[in-house]
Amino acid sequence: MKDMHQRTELSSLGEFGLIDRITSAVELVNPSSLQGIGDDAAVIDPQGLMQVVTTDMLVEGVHFDLSYVPLKHLGYKSMIVNFSDVYAMNAEPKQVTVAIAISNRFSLEAVDELYAGMLAACGVYGVDLVGGDTTSSTSGLVISVTAIGVARKEDLVYRHGAKENDLLVVSGDLGGAYMGLQVLEREKAVFKQDPNVQPDLAGFDYILERQLKPEARKDIIAMFQELKLRPTAMIDVSDGLASEAMHIARRSELGVKIYDEKIPIDPVTYRTARDFNLDPTTCALNGGEDYELLFTIAQSDFDKVKGSPHFSVVGHMTDQASGYQLVDKQGGQHELKAQGWDALLKK
Ligand code: ADP
Ligand code: MG
Repeated sequence: MKDMHQRTELSSLGEFGLIDRITSAVELVNPSSLQGIGDDAAVIDPQGLMQVVTTDMLVEGVHFDLSYVPLKHLGYKSMIVNFSDVYAMNAEPKQVTVAIAISNRFSLEAVDELYAGMLAACGVYGVDLVGGDTTSSTSGLVISVTAIGVARKEDLVYRHGAKENDLLVVSGDLGGAYMGLQVLEREKAVFKQDPNVQPDLAGFDYILERQLKPEARKDIIAMFQELKLRPTAMIDVSDGLASEAMHIARRSELGVKIYDEKIPIDPVTYRTARDFNLDPTTCALNGGEDYELLFTIAQSDFDKVKGSPHFSVVGHMTDQASGYQLVDKQGGQHELKAQGWDALLKK
């Protein structure tokens, strides 16, 4: 049996040894991936389609805390955040490159875990790891991922395509990832006080998974095809509903109105927010990291989303002069503010 606490120094392999090790775990599945890891650059055949390219960087201490995020989950999530951006263009991710800066604080076993998570996500979403870069770091771990996807030109959906009176629709539910983070932070604080106390994570499975092992909504993109539904604008929810809705509005030169009672919130998210003395709606509006898709559709397409458990109509687009509004249960209007989850964290 493999010793779980075995530690092999990265220096014992060297950079090329490490790259060889990563390469040996990679299998290319997409015919568009002509050349993967091993040459000066990867070669991709877009096969007559439009290519979309997106990069996201995760920095230790800023975007993740290794005291409660397992490296395998971190690897998985680092892929998901990029795939989510590609899906938000109504495109399909096909290739990724990964650049890591890593200090000798990390062992080879740790790097294996990180890549196991990355490659697991690649497997689930049908994406090829085709290249990257490896460098040493004097401090923390930095992971920069670039995802490349394809779409037919006529299928691409931008943030700027929304029209006045379009319905604003979101997939899944919101605020869960943020509440999962609150639980993890609380247990970390307890552990710091007394390392003998076991973390109490029972009953929080759903929101912990939302935080630690998010998924990208590949299934929603497939549903659009089946429903013959083409959103007029789309964005993924990484910073909270308020901020994303305002991005669509701003880029489309419109206003937006969101009805707070229409915002989908899971019961576990709701209950945990209440336990933390937080307003569940505020968590959904500003929590972020949910990786759901927020999009606008023409009113004539309402029948295609009506009654679906996957979609919630949370509002609609208005003229620009009406600004960004949140309507409460009593019909009162409030200016929608995008605090973003960074602001929420720095309490
Ligand atoms: P170069 O010196 O030309 O940049 P490298 O030695 O950095 O080449 O990389 C060799 C090959 O290994 C390239 O195909 C590169 O894309 C790939 N590679 C390097 N680091 C990583 C990594 N961390 N993950 C995936 N592929 C990598
Ligand atoms: Mg290089």
